[in-house]
Amino acid sequence: MDDIAALEPDLAGRFEKALFFAEEGHVDPRVALVRLKERLLTLGGHIRLDHSVVEGQFDWTVDCTGMQARDTETALRGVRGEMILVRCPDVTLHRPVRMLHPRIPIYIVPRENHVFMVGATMVESDDSREITVRAMSELLNALYTLHPAFAEAEIIEANAGIRPSYPDNVPRVHCEGRRISVNGMYRHGFLLSPARAREVADIIFGQSV
Ligand SMILES: Cc1cc2nc3c(=O)[nH]c(=O)nc-3n(C[C@H](O)[C@H](O)[C@H](O)COP(=O)(O)OP(=O)(O)OC[C@H]3O[C@@H](n4cnc5c(N)ncnc54)[C@H](O)[C@@H]3O)c2cc1C
Repeated sequence: MDDIAALEPDLAGRFEKALFFAEEGHVDPRVALVRLKERLLTLGGHIRLDHSVVEGQFDWTVDCTGMQARDTETALRGVRGEMILVRCPDVTLHRPVRMLHPRIPIYIVPRENHVFMVGATMVESDDSREITVRAMSELLNALYTLHPAFAEAEIIEANAGIRPSYPDNVPRVHCEGRRISVNGMYRHGFLLSPARAREVADIIFGQSV
């Protein structure tokens, strides 16, 4: 208990046991995307978001269109995920906290300005409707269980998304001619994308130089 209090003072006295992974990191996906875009433009890249790109115009095409690629990536399935963002000035956390929940692997990730991301449900479905009452209840219950001060938190956002996933939940990079498919990122698209990008670069630069 003392160790928990030393790492996360706001959780002092609330839990008898916890696992601590000193090396665990986390990124804010929205911040990461902005930074990646800036970096790409700095390096001379161009971004077009109008969906009108014709593949034959380019030396290589990398298809990373997620569920939209299901016509060609026929094994893909959707795994629905729901999350909420809350603001709670009364609680401070210094690292992501994962709840050992029997059904839902819920995590609470501190962001700047006392904003917390609470996610994420796992539903075998490509239903892209807004968050359900059940999901919202489960996420809020987990939050309240972590610390009762979250009862006064302000809910600032609720979202649902679909994770593109292969049957074994392992991402795939494969190449046909000059067309490379990168898909099936499942629960870890942000975590795993640097390694997948390296595979793509190895294919392109390994074959073209
Ligand atoms: C609630 C929730 C929480 C998550 N939390 C995490 C997390 O903490 N860490 C983590 O690593 N991952 C997390 N994930 C998983 C992560 O979001 C996915 O793994 C990732 O988004 C998959 O990325 P993707 O680019 O392959 O597919 P997508 O995110 O589906 O992106 C595909 C993109 O392609 C675009 N597109 C489609 N067709 C075209 C076209 N013809 N031309 C141009 N663009 C096109 C689409 O508009 C879309 O923007 C979470 C997912 C959910 C739902």
